[in-house]
Amino acid sequence: PRTEHSQRPSELLVELAENGDPTYQKYHKLEDDIHIQTRYKRPADNKKGGISAATFYASDTLPALLFLEFIQMCAQDLPVAVCESCHRLFVPFSSRAKYCERMLDPETGA
Ligand SMILES: [Zn+2]
Repeated sequence: PRTEHSQRPSELLVELAENGDPTYQKYHKLEDDIHIQTRYKRPADNKKGGISAATFYASDTLPALLFLEFIQMCAQDLPVAVCESCHRLFVPFSSRAKYCERMLDPETGA
């Protein structure tokens, strides 16, 4: 989701959904293959008792999960930027961030 053309990703998403955009509809159908699951775990080292829980999305269809991730990023207006070093997309920690955190050279750590 890029914030180009002064339109927020969430607004664009709603527009595509309301207009019945065929590409949006095609990928929206993938959500039928996504299941919400919750796992509970009782920590062995917790003397006071207690339980931890994690909710996650599961699917046998990778494109469905990717689409879900994209939709959630759009809905949250999460900005992305193009890294000036490797030219790949990344989620910047501030509006002035120019570079992603991918490692360029494992030997130098750059
Ligand atoms: Zn980069």
